[in-house]
Amino acid sequence: MVVKVAVIGGGPTGLVTGMGLARRGHEVVAVDRDPGPPGDGGHWARRGVMQFHHAHAFRPQVGEVLRAEAPAAWDAWMAQGGEPVELPLGDGRTVPGGVRSRRETFERAVRAAALEQPGLEVRIGHVDGVTTSRGRAQGVRVDGVDLEADLVVDASGRSGRVNRHLRAPGVGGECGIAYVDRVYRLRPGVALPPMTNAIAWQGTYVGYLVIVFLHEKGIFSALIIRSTADRELVALRHTRAFEAAATAIPGLRAWTDPDVSEPVTHVLPGGPLLNVYRGQRGLSGALALPGLVFVGDSVCTTTPNFGRGLTTSLTQVGELLRLVDEHGDDVGAIGAELDAWDEARMRPWVEDHITMDHALVRRWAGDDIDLSARLPSDVIMMAAAQDPSIGAAIGPYVSMQALPSSLDAVEDRARAVYRTGWRPPPDPGPSRDELADVVAAAAPA
Ligand SMILES: Cc1cc2nc3c(=O)[nH]c(=O)nc-3n(C[C@H](O)[C@H](O)[C@H](O)COP(=O)(O)OP(=O)(O)OC[C@H]3O[C@@H](n4cnc5c(N)ncnc54)[C@H](O)[C@@H]3O)c2cc1C
Repeated sequence: MVVKVAVIGGGPTGLVTGMGLARRGHEVVAVDRDPGPPGDGGHWARRGVMQFHHAHAFRPQVGEVLRAEAPAAWDAWMAQGGEPVELPLGDGRTVPGGVRSRRETFERAVRAAALEQPGLEVRIGHVDGVTTSRGRAQGVRVDGVDLEADLVVDASGRSGRVNRHLRAPGVGGECGIAYVDRVYRLRPGVALPPMTNAIAWQGTYVGYLVIVFLHEKGIFSALIIRSTADRELVALRHTRAFEAAATAIPGLRAWTDPDVSEPVTHVLPGGPLLNVYRGQRGLSGALALPGLVFVGDSVCTTTPNFGRGLTTSLTQVGELLRLVDEHGDDVGAIGAELDAWDEARMRPWVEDHITMDHALVRRWAGDDIDLSARLPSDVIMMAAAQDPSIGAAIGPYVSMQALPSSLDAVEDRARAVYRTGWRPPPDPGPSRDELADVVAAAAPA
């Protein structure tokens, strides 16, 4: 039976859901308050989605879901410059290593494909709320006008407010880390600076982190990540301070040296970063509202330093579509099974980030690794430098093929490494205090 679906939000989650449902023959309206990019290809402000202009890395799962559920979006992404990369396995074979792309390139492609999808209408408007009848959702109200639907999908992202009152409070909150980034373009003909993996380079320093995410056509974003409590490094948002820091950090200088690349944006200060999980249920423990399901960042928001958000979002889309196939118009079963799946498959990623980020902030403040508690996943991974037997467990976790609990098997080995007194050596570069001096000297008074 054809199900009428209203989707709240036309970000990646909402539009891929909409395309997947429309391709199954359902009638879908996706509503977003954003007017979309200007027709002349000009600046797309994308108000309300603060991460839109910031660094994004795309894991292979993003491409997998697109190719399965919205192939026209994949094709458009590739046509607009997305660069899929392959990882060598060392035996002549390769595996997908993700896609190099800016978020804007990706989202313009997804939106262009959605606008062409028969059965999907992308409507510009603000969803005021969900309408109900006999205790279940029966549609949405858009700028005061009712739109009927058998199923309402809330894909309103990490900042979505419209149904927050229906749900139990989330697990987590602000993560205690913040960052500032800037987009550059490699100069023609220069050799690619060192990479940590196919889409990123990362440097670990005393009191802060640096990541470069490589996008398409030699464009890349450079991020400096600090503790939110570190007020002196807030000044990194000033161009001269960021440039001085980029020069002072050797690994970052390899990317940002004027002979290697040129900046193509101003310095972009990031907004608050969150680790939040919210399931499908309300305060009573029952579904928030039968006929209303939540997907994407509205369920699972994680800090970007592992580039997991679009993978968790689109994996949820894949699961929702599978449940719609299985249960048709039994929206209660869809909601209940999605919640169980979210609890089992999404919540652990948020909890993983909460543990890692809190511990990272404590280490930045001078604490040692706490060997009496469950070791954070990043700390377990770093121990592989001393005990290679830990390495085998890392691949499935890092690639998100296995949940964080897969590292339990090697946690004791990692603990044994740290009990010897060994600690991961920082990369060569200024400590946080030295960086603060560099920043203070360069920032405007
Ligand atoms: C700083 C930062 C960096 C990130 N980096 C990465 C990365 O490197 N790799 C990665 O995979 N992920 C990353 N993420 C996560 C990724 O951006 C999110 O997972 C992704 O945006 C989720 O998509 P979404 O469609 O669920 O939500 P959004 O992209 O937030 O879209 C929600 C949409 O809903 C609309 N909306 C909300 N309420 C209403 C309403 N009432 N009426 C109408 N429309 C409404 C909004 O306008 C918006 O278009 C990052 C996140 C942040 C914050």
